[in-house]
Amino acid sequence: MRKIQMVDLKGQYDGIKEQVNSSFQEIIEETSFINGPHVHGFQKELEEYLNVKHVIPCANGTDALQIAMMGLGLKPGDEVITADFTFAATVEVIALLQLTPVLVDVDPETFNIDPQKIKDAITPKTKAIVPVHLFGQVANMDEIMQIAKEHDLYVIEDNAQAIGANYHSDKMGTLKAGTMGDIAATSFFPSKNLGCYGDGGAIFTNNDELAHTIRGIVNHGMYERYHHDVVGVNSRLDSFQAAVLRAKLPKLNGYNAARRSSAAKYTSALKNIENLETPVLIGEQDSHVYHQYTLKIKNGKRDGLAKHLQEKGIPFGIYYPIPLHLQKAYADERYNEADFPVTNQLVKEVISLPMHSELDDEQIEYITSALIDFLKK
Ligand SMILES: *Cc1c(COP(=O)(O)O)cnc(C)c1O
Repeated sequence: MRKIQMVDLKGQYDGIKEQVNSSFQEIIEETSFINGPHVHGFQKELEEYLNVKHVIPCANGTDALQIAMMGLGLKPGDEVITADFTFAATVEVIALLQLTPVLVDVDPETFNIDPQKIKDAITPKTKAIVPVHLFGQVANMDEIMQIAKEHDLYVIEDNAQAIGANYHSDKMGTLKAGTMGDIAATSFFPSKNLGCYGDGGAIFTNNDELAHTIRGIVNHGMYERYHHDVVGVNSRLDSFQAAVLRAKLPKLNGYNAARRSSAAKYTSALKNIENLETPVLIGEQDSHVYHQYTLKIKNGKRDGLAKHLQEKGIPFGIYYPIPLHLQKAYADERYNEADFPVTNQLVKEVISLPMHSELDDEQIEYITSALIDFLKK
């Protein structure tokens, strides 16, 4: 059996090696390291793939979130509602811009922000909602967009984990994750579903004016060379990363289908096992791209299982072990433990299995057998 890895970037590289190597060679020969033709080419290709008017590449997903909030003109003291159960980057940039993060609990089945909890958290200071499409499944955008409309709030989608997922909406039709809100941020960190070979990110929007504002913000607030109209940042995708992403983008649907197929195999092998709950898919198959395949392990058995997997040489991840409202940097007297029953429970139960486009049946069989052996004894 091939060695099991949490993500298999080398195996994936083997399928795009010639294109990546020749692009890298060309970039070096042409010394087009920054803002070269690959960056522009990738931008256009991603706009087409997502069916969105504007893609603005930047240096990483955390920057993308920050720049999106800067572009919307959010001001210190504005409240921004997001999920308690997500990667810290989401809340970090809210705090960094001196906006007020308002963390709310999530849905126990999808792990995504609970629309009812959003409603409960709205105050006159609320300006934006940041749904995170966690683990690759799109949040309940129909309800979130409705709430945003009623209360005149911006929606900033954190699409770092769900690129390529489709959302089948009653009202909006079928749209790609990251193209429904006012603006979206994504990450091309190597382990994401569409990952480069270093850091990378992008912002998407259908709003022409916002796109123009943001193109200046990513470039030191310049709209005309050496005229700095607003305080900006320096956040660029480099040509090497763009070249990798151009090689991978045409294969993204295939990569996501491979993840979905591995997820289905895991789920079918792990049905009806005591103390184990497989991920819940809401909606159609293609609305989940399984950035992570995350189980819930009940009755205090998660940590013992983790130890067992480690002994068997099976990598796993605990995403995420601590609710954001309990992290030192983001703890606040405003929060009440009773408001986070779901997240507080999930952090004790979740465990993510190896998930990538290169998993084979023998590996899946080995992993699921190890889980079953432990939970049945
Ligand atoms: C990865 C990730 C980010 C940050 O992306 P970076 O490129 O690592 O800065 C933000 N939000 C979520 C949900 C992520 O998974």
